Amino acid sequence: MTHLAEAAQAYTERHRAALMRTLGAPQLVLERGEGCWVWDVDGRRYLDFLAGIAVDSLGHAHPVVVEAAARQAATLIHVSNYFATPSQIALAERLRRLTGAGEGGRAYFGNSGAEAIEAAFKLARRNSTDGRSRILSLKNSFHGRTMGALALTGKPTMQEAFRPMVPGVDHIDSTIAALEEAMDDSVAALFVEPIKGEAGVLPLPDGYLRRARELTERHGALLIVDEIQTGVGRTGEWFAYQHDGILPDAVTIAKGIASGIPIGALVTFGRASDLLLRGDHGSTFGGQPFSTTVAGAVLDEIERAGLVQNAAVRGAQLQELILGIGSPHVTAVRGRGLMVGVGIADGRAAEVAERSLAHGLILNAPNPDSLRIVPPLILGDEELEEFRDRFTLALGDL
Ligand SMILES: *Cc1c(COP(=O)(O)O)cnc(C)c1O
Repeated sequence: MTHLAEAAQAYTERHRAALMRTLGAPQLVLERGEGCWVWDVDGRRYLDFLAGIAVDSLGHAHPVVVEAAARQAATLIHVSNYFATPSQIALAERLRRLTGAGEGGRAYFGNSGAEAIEAAFKLARRNSTDGRSRILSLKNSFHGRTMGALALTGKPTMQEAFRPMVPGVDHIDSTIAALEEAMDDSVAALFVEPIKGEAGVLPLPDGYLRRARELTERHGALLIVDEIQTGVGRTGEWFAYQHDGILPDAVTIAKGIASGIPIGALVTFGRASDLLLRGDHGSTFGGQPFSTTVAGAVLDEIERAGLVQNAAVRGAQLQELILGIGSPHVTAVRGRGLMVGVGIADGRAAEVAERSLAHGLILNAPNPDSLRIVPPLILGDEELEEFRDRFTLALGDL
């Protein structure tokens, strides 16, 4: 960890002693942020193209978030689910509209992606009968770390130490043929990520979602789209399934919706909205006025500033720019909007991420062959230029 200066060194020692070992040694110890930039405890500046893993959609210290959070903190932070608040109701209505669920849609609020997935898992169980109980999920998918979400996650190495898994989940290959083979009347639900973020920004095959929609409909299974990473404008549509012109039965949302304040949601469509009944699920913090107010303000700003469109335009520029560097280490550039994956040759992705950090650029290597780039949706020309300069240096170091 040669890049750690004095203050960071001391914090890292304390972190090692006091934090659960689930966390590795921190790459940086960060103190503040502004826009697409963050500063560490030694005063060094970094261009943040990871954005809390697709969470800080408006970047850092955005005035809209600061104002909404401060105002709501001074008004009403939390009540309990015995009571409703205007911001909670307004956010549910808005998500019905943005997802396309419309009048028949309903929203459930939790505090994280995994909680949105847990709610969706219960939804799938409510769509189960004696002869219908299988849940399909994709190999190499990621749906979260709680036990239900982990059972859906298609990574055996993550599951190994925690068996037995919640039963009933079959993991299939991410091909249309595998889906056709697996789908029948015994399937209660299919879970899919439109673009697998943790797997290295891997899109589904062309036509997959449309075929999944046809087959789930024909067999009475729910199509549940996990948009926790892809949703809320990141791919250049409000939700990635909208590129394919389909509507799912349910969508999970979290990460970017409140630009860093914890909140997750499950939105159901049509008949799926009648599956979960009173008492079936709940969460102490879920749907509280603080997080729902900030989410509402973030969605306002995404609309006002045209950030869904910005994600589409800047994402295309970002891909072009990476290809334009012409590095022999770059084997592929993929993804959609501001969710970009870069294939790196010879398993050296972690090295590229480390060299990037040394040049003041934060990005992430979810596996040895891929980089994930998920910057704030607000980025513009200046940030793209800074990115190109720093990323070029990092690749040049190899
Ligand atoms: C991050 C993520 C999750 C889990 O969200 P948490 O908030 O970390 O629980 C689930 N699914 C996808 C696709 C994700 O990217």
